[in-house]
Amino acid sequence: MQTDREIIRPACAEVKRPVPMDLVCEVCGAEVEVWSDEEEPHCPGCGAELKKEA
Ligand SMILES: [Zn+2]
Repeated sequence: MQTDREIIRPACAEVKRPVPMDLVCEVCGAEVEVWSDEEEPHCPGCGAELKKEA
């Protein structure tokens, strides 16, 4: 019989976990939720590129 073992993930697996952030479109004013790992998020309403605040 084989024994099932739980796979233990190393802590470093969470280093690059993206987080949601709310941006406001400068063009149409819409609030857009984007993920921190999106490099070039765009507004779904008008298509404008959203700028992330540093
Ligand atoms: Zn927009």
